Amino acid sequence: MPRKDFADIAAGRMSASALSESYADIAPPLDRQTALIAAQRCHFCFDAPCIKACPTGIDIPMFIRGIATDNLKGAAEEILGANILGGMCARVCPTEILCEGDCVRNHPNEKAPVAISALQRYATDWVFESNTPLFERAADTGKKVAVVGAGPAGLACAHALARAGHRVTIFDALPKAGGLNEYGIARYKVLDFAAREIEWLLSIGGIEVRNGQKLGANLKLADLRRDYDAVFLGIGLTGVNALGIEGEQLAGVRNAGDGFVEISGRPPCRRDRRRQHGDRRLGAEQEARRGIGVAGLSPRHRFDERDACRTGIRQERRRQRDQLGRAQAHSRARWRS
Ligand code: SF4
Repeated sequence: MPRKDFADIAAGRMSASALSESYADIAPPLDRQTALIAAQRCHFCFDAPCIKACPTGIDIPMFIRGIATDNLKGAAEEILGANILGGMCARVCPTEILCEGDCVRNHPNEKAPVAISALQRYATDWVFESNTPLFERAADTGKKVAVVGAGPAGLACAHALARAGHRVTIFDALPKAGGLNEYGIARYKVLDFAAREIEWLLSIGGIEVRNGQKLGANLKLADLRRDYDAVFLGIGLTGVNALGIEGEQLAGVRNAGDGFVEISGRPPCRRDRRRQHGDRRLGAEQEARRGIGVAGLSPRHRFDERDACRTGIRQERRRQRDQLGRAQAHSRARWRS
């Protein structure tokens, strides 16, 4: 690509307020009243298709019933008992093709399914904000387990082992724990939530995290097998698909996953000049470009661009729905007056 095509990329062109607005929480949390109304929409289906569609098998109607009856602790226990990282999943799961996609209220006359992800966030946020310990550690078994990788798999495994009374040491190559949750998800979806979630998860006790420990470099599997009773390898999905296109091997061509790790913790430096100029018609396109980093992370997806576009389409749909809601409220108010 000619050099001039990169001329529009430079750091520091956006004001701090415009930057924080652009990267603010894309799906702000529900307040109590909205959550209660959303929870009342659940039919508590006997053969709930939403549960079958959830890869972690959370009893969705049960936790929604907890919210509807103001039992947030019970709701959070239901979620985090099935999926200890349920707070993060509430923010990043593609629910429109999972639980919400299969919700029976997903009918043209109903306009929208039950807002499962927003309700899940509502229940779990309460746990992290109030720092409520939901699970207790069993009596010490005297067993030691090494977990390689402080990503979602490693953290979930470590928590389950700690609950069972084992002592766990997590080894991770990067400076911060969290893996994909910390380094691989666009900031406007999660803000600083990964660190908060990990802090709560580790509060169960019995888990030590050692950063800067890379398997095959300064960490040897043989040593772990010698020193620990068991070893769990949760080394994640850091590999990416080769695109198989000309120029892929050139210096300076890099995968999005590595780029995310590098910029993590720093303010985003890419600027959208059109957004600065107030043009908001580009919703889906903007969001697709913002989501493109996530697409590069999954080696399972041959069609990576679909993953990126999905983010854009979802956000644009939500924006249009909000706009429609505001217009309907406005016309109702006019009709009454
Ligand atoms: S399918 Fe929808 S209405 Fe039925 S239990 Fe699940 S969330 Fe509730």
